[in-house]
Amino acid sequence: MEPQQRSPLLEVRGNVELKRPLVKAPSRLPLPGTRFKRRPDQMEDALEPEKKRTRGLDTVTKMATSHPRAPALTARPQTQGQTTAPKVPKKTGPRCSTAIATVLKNQKPGPAVPAQKPAAAAPPLLGGKKPTKRPAWDLKGQLCDLNAQLQCFRERTQTLNQENQQLQDQLQEAQQQARALGAECRTLEGELARVQAQAEQSQQELGNLRAHVLELEEQLGTQEGLVQELQKEQLGLQEERRGLATRLEEQERRLQASEAALSGSQAEVASLRQEAAAQAAALVEQGERLHGLEMERRRLHNQLQELKGNIRVFCRVRPVLAGEPTPSPGFLLFPSGPGGPSDPPTRLSVSRSDDRRGTLSGAPAPTTRHDFSFDRVFPPGSGQDQVFEEIAMLVQSALDGYPVCIFAYGQTGSGKTFTMEGGPGGDPQVEGLIPRALRHLFSVAQELGGQGWTYSFVASYVEIYNETVRDLLATGTRKGQGGECEIRRAGPGSEELTVTNARYVPVSCEKEVEALLHVARQNRAVARTSQNERSSRSHSVFQLQISGEHAGRGLQCGAPLSLVDLAGSERLDPGLALGPGERERLRETQAINSSLSTLGLVIMALSNKESHVPYRNSKLTYLLQNSLGGSAKMLMFVNISPLEENVSESLNSLRFASKVNQCVIGTAQANRK
Ligand code: ADP
Ligand code: MG
Repeated sequence: MEPQQRSPLLEVRGNVELKRPLVKAPSRLPLPGTRFKRRPDQMEDALEPEKKRTRGLDTVTKMATSHPRAPALTARPQTQGQTTAPKVPKKTGPRCSTAIATVLKNQKPGPAVPAQKPAAAAPPLLGGKKPTKRPAWDLKGQLCDLNAQLQCFRERTQTLNQENQQLQDQLQEAQQQARALGAECRTLEGELARVQAQAEQSQQELGNLRAHVLELEEQLGTQEGLVQELQKEQLGLQEERRGLATRLEEQERRLQASEAALSGSQAEVASLRQEAAAQAAALVEQGERLHGLEMERRRLHNQLQELKGNIRVFCRVRPVLAGEPTPSPGFLLFPSGPGGPSDPPTRLSVSRSDDRRGTLSGAPAPTTRHDFSFDRVFPPGSGQDQVFEEIAMLVQSALDGYPVCIFAYGQTGSGKTFTMEGGPGGDPQVEGLIPRALRHLFSVAQELGGQGWTYSFVASYVEIYNETVRDLLATGTRKGQGGECEIRRAGPGSEELTVTNARYVPVSCEKEVEALLHVARQNRAVARTSQNERSSRSHSVFQLQISGEHAGRGLQCGAPLSLVDLAGSERLDPGLALGPGERERLRETQAINSSLSTLGLVIMALSNKESHVPYRNSKLTYLLQNSLGGSAKMLMFVNISPLEENVSESLNSLRFASKVNQCVIGTAQANRK
């Protein structure tokens, strides 16, 4: 054992005092039954008797000191400030051994009481009896006592040695125990440190957990608020749900009712479908029938037109205009037809007084009555609509594929342009035949569209002045000039004629037609000169090429509709002096007369079925030849002035028209392709 090393026992005590709670840790102390297995508190007790014994020894020592015969006991110097070692223990045993062991902790055991001066020693204290003092002379006795005493000491020494040995062993054992305890202590310290670290960590964790708990509590508060809100919402929703459930029930009831109605309707639909299928079949049949009827209608319509005459003449007398002299009563008469006044008038009587005869005899001038009969006579009060009504059916023939040509013949100012194009101002009441005819055609074409027919219309408008053809639809730089146009066949071997340099404009509605008539009026206005009212000295030819197609049946038909505003038919007064202007006028008039008489001749030739028809004798007849032939239908308006001063020209016009009216052009043939 090293002096600087702390006593294991002291360490144990320290442990016991400081860390009492750790006593219960697994002990590494000697097994039960060993002598030193004591609790630390018992160890205190163990030390107490030692002290007592030490005191006891002191007493003995004092006793020995006071006894002169025991010098050995007093002679030993008290080194290291220790209590004097007992040399004569009153008794031996474990308690004594323990006391000695405690004392020996800091003391090297010295040799067992060497008796340096045994002779001087007092007689030994044996058996507790005070030795009887030998007389000085009894040396032998004294020696004997000393020997006995020595023997006794020797025995005690031996005993002490044995005890010492035992104490050494115990000490070693105690040291081992102390080391074990130290190791245990260190382990425990380590454990303590770990536990402390754990505790700190736990504290930290606890802190974190507290913060977390606070946070969670806050969240809990929020969540509780939310929960309350949600609960409120839930209540609202439950209320709503109840409402919806009620509505749902209502809807379901309705649905059931609807389903019932639906199944009824489905049955109805099924029967209707059957009916529809039957009707579709019937419709197809009807379509077939309708087509048959349409073809029949066309045939009958044509027959009717033929019965009315393929060339018809309508006479129209214009009203007296403001500022014109009122004709004498009876100048123009419109006798009723055989059916009485309800019949549309067909006759006209012109009374002409023979002024020269009356003047010569002094008697009132005799009147000559000239009676004319036409297909229809329109007195001055007849409106544009009445006139059109009469020609609507004829115009419709053009859609059926029969060429139609309508002329307006008469002297200048008799109302030809009014009849064809209409009156001034764009008043729909005074709209002429051209816009009305086209509107009618567009509408009938649309109706026929329902039967599978599709129609297209291309318009052209030219004037023939002094045997030259000019385009009335010219626009831009050609406006008013018209350029020279030529009449040509559309292609080699083609019957169709076309005017070169002229515009052919596709039209499909009224507005487009109006626009074309407007352009034509502008062109005429530009060409007008002060000396020459050219529009009345030229023929205006409006042509509409109609093309129809029935794709389903592979049918096609096409025919031209020509609406011609002829030049004034008046003759030049032969008595007038022929100035330069008049000569020009004469040339114009001759050209007009020539073309009008050619028109008459062409009609005659057609009527008489002559082999040669002189179409080429004038540009007008040449251009119109496809609208005048055997398959064509022709209508001539003879426009008459109501004025007496125009009676001579009126009679001329009426005579010309009468001749035409007597013509019957052979049975018309539809242009079917
Ligand atoms: P034309 O073309 O034959 O020379 P217009 O058509 O120019 O004759 O007619 C001459 C005038 O008579 C024009 O002012 C026209 O408005 C008027 N007129 C012609 N016919 C009628 C009619 N039926 N009703 C009213 N005015 C008409
Ligand atoms: Mg005119």
